[in-house]
Amino acid sequence: MSRFWSPFVRDLVPYVPGEQPKMANLVKLNTNEHPYGPSPLAIAAMQAAVNDDLRLYPDPNADQLKTAIAEHFELAAQGGDKSWVFVGNGSDEVLAHAFHGLFQHDLPLLFPDVTYSFYPVYAGLYGIRHETVALNAAFEIDPADYARPNGGIIFPNPNAPTGRLLPLAAIERLLADSPDSVVLVDEAYIDFGGDSAVALVGRHPNLLVTQTLSKSRALAGLRVGFAIGQPELIEALERVKNSFNSYPLGRVAQAGAVAAIRDRGHFGAMQDMVIMQRDSLTTRLERLGFEVLPSGANFVFARHPEHAGPALTAALRERAVIVRNFRQPRIEDFLRITVGTPDQHRALIGALEEILAGAV
Ligand code: PMP
Repeated sequence: MSRFWSPFVRDLVPYVPGEQPKMANLVKLNTNEHPYGPSPLAIAAMQAAVNDDLRLYPDPNADQLKTAIAEHFELAAQGGDKSWVFVGNGSDEVLAHAFHGLFQHDLPLLFPDVTYSFYPVYAGLYGIRHETVALNAAFEIDPADYARPNGGIIFPNPNAPTGRLLPLAAIERLLADSPDSVVLVDEAYIDFGGDSAVALVGRHPNLLVTQTLSKSRALAGLRVGFAIGQPELIEALERVKNSFNSYPLGRVAQAGAVAAIRDRGHFGAMQDMVIMQRDSLTTRLERLGFEVLPSGANFVFARHPEHAGPALTAALRERAVIVRNFRQPRIEDFLRITVGTPDQHRALIGALEEILAGAV
């Protein structure tokens, strides 16, 4: 607290990002980064972009990137084009602009009570009325619970940190039940086996879908995210962005992102690898007695019937394995474990075997 602060800063409750510890030899499975590197073509494109042209401002409209995204999702088949795409500095920034530009209404914004913990932070930042909706007993989002007057709906699909995936039919039901409010589907983790709601954008003017290059394209360090929706919604985001920072993405990021989006071969191979590793990790955790929720993401959410989550997390940390545990009602005994490499999984399972064999 400082006398120099604006009054509203005193009441802000900021997001606490997952830890990025600096120690060497850690098995780091806490922030859902991709275990392998990005597309070599993206790396080459970024290296090529490091030249004298960096004295120039980047394209404020990121036209090439928007075009690459529109092509990747075949928006033309739905009557769309690059004007259906918004890009930002990570999907966190895209989400912030969506909260600011689309969710400030008299009726409350709805989101699940176990979900991405940035949502209440944005709602606090922009003074947005909001209500949370409990997940069902299987930790799933039930569309019927959202069929009431609202000023918007947002949820990740798959949800975070549970990993549970909602089928497109359930999303269509949500869209049909709330035709007068924006439904934002945060698809940070959709590429690990889910069906994207981008396919529905042409038919639903109230749908906005966000995605990121941080997870499936292994570019968390680049900070690139995007939204897809009809121009009416995209214009709201552009207005907010242009009142805030007209150059959200630098030249290097734009060049790398274009190449990453176009490299479908690398993308597909990496998706398959993560899905395969997720399935094998699930089996191995189940063999150790864990309950593992079905995951559509690049992480699993698991709890052991005999061991408290915080104690397990601490015992793993003592063995240099870092996973995420949320001190929240209902999920405090779960570990959220990022899908890693076979070596990382061996280290994790070995550490767990040791912990479960002794007293934690
Ligand atoms: N949405 C969800 C559900 C997430 O878990 C994350 C990653 N923490 C993000 C959005 C933001 O990702 P990024 O800003 O790296 O695109």
